[in-house]
Amino acid sequence: MANTKKHPDSNVYSELASNAVPLALPKRVLAIGAHPDDIEFGAGGTLARWVSLGCEVTMLVVTDGSKGSWDPGIDPADLVATRINEQRAAAAALGAAEVRYLNEVDGELEYTMDLRKEMCRQIRDVRPDVVLSHDPWQRYQLHPDHRATGWAVMDGVVSARDHLYFPEQDLDPHRPDAVLLWSADTPDHWEDISDHFPAKVEALLCHSSQGTTTMGGAEQTDDRRRAFVDRMQSWAAGQGAAVDLEKAESFKRITP
Ligand SMILES: [Zn+2]
Repeated sequence: MANTKKHPDSNVYSELASNAVPLALPKRVLAIGAHPDDIEFGAGGTLARWVSLGCEVTMLVVTDGSKGSWDPGIDPADLVATRINEQRAAAAALGAAEVRYLNEVDGELEYTMDLRKEMCRQIRDVRPDVVLSHDPWQRYQLHPDHRATGWAVMDGVVSARDHLYFPEQDLDPHRPDAVLLWSADTPDHWEDISDHFPAKVEALLCHSSQGTTTMGGAEQTDDRRRAFVDRMQSWAAGQGAAVDLEKAESFKRITP
C-alpha cells in the first residue's frame, strides 16, 4: 500500500489513486488565476520546474487587479498599469512563455456563459496538456473572483473537449490530460518544488504592489521580506510532508 497516505488535515485515508499514476511532464500548460499573483501563490514552483524541463507555460489573468490596494490615495488606473508590469516580471521569473489578460473588473467577476465560453476558447487556443486554476469546491472560499474563475475554468474544460459546444469559435476541440486545482481542501496530487522554491518566491516578490496586502509588508524591510519567505517555506514544507518531499505544492487532480 505504498500509495496510501493519510491526508494531514483529514482522518480519511485515501488511495491517492490519481497520484499513483504520475503525471507525465506536460509540453504545454495553461494556468488561470483570478488576479495577478494568484497563479504564483498556487503553482509558481510547479510551473518553474516544468519550464526548466522544457514545458511551455501560458498564464491567463482574468481580472485587472484594480482593487488590490489598501492605499486610500491610489488611482485604480495606475494600479492596473503597475500590476501588468509586475505580472510580466513574475512571468519572466518563472520562465513563462506568455501572459494573457482578460481585464475583467477586479472584485466584480461574475460567472456568466460568456466567461465559460471565453475559458473554452482559451483552452482550445492554447491546447494545454494540463490546466491549473483555483479549486471552486474549496470550502469557505471568500473571494468571489476565485470562486467565479474556478467554476468557469471547470465548465470551460468540459465545453472545450466536445465539438458541439460553441462551434462558432471555429477551433478544434481539446481535452487536457489533467486539471490541477490549487488551494484544494482534499489534495491528491503533489508536485516537488524543492529546487524551484526560490523562483516561486522571486515571482511573488515581483508583485510589490501586493506586499502590504498579501505578503506582510515584504516590500518594506529586509526583516519583513525574510518573514514572508519563512512563511512560504513553512507552507511548502507542510505540503511536502504529506508525501515525503522537502517542499511541494498540492492540488486536487481531475482527469477530464
Ligand atoms: Zn486572488
